[in-house]
Amino acid sequence: MTHKPGCTGKRKWPSEDAADAALGHIWSQCKPGRRLETRSYPCDHCGKWHLTSQPAQPSKEDTAA
Ligand SMILES: [Zn+2]
Repeated sequence: MTHKPGCTGKRKWPSEDAADAALGHIWSQCKPGRRLETRSYPCDHCGKWHLTSQPAQPSKEDTAA
């Protein structure tokens, strides 16, 4: 009950399409010096989609084996 998902305060979109549309909008008005979101990802916490500027991370569990 008191556990806050890590996405609190983040913008969220209901679908990948919506998130990608938002990405396109961000890119269309990119500003110098600002870190741009580069991709969308499904959120484990809220089930929605967020944008991130982080590159996709390979799963450590998969590569460790
Ligand atoms: Zn979320």
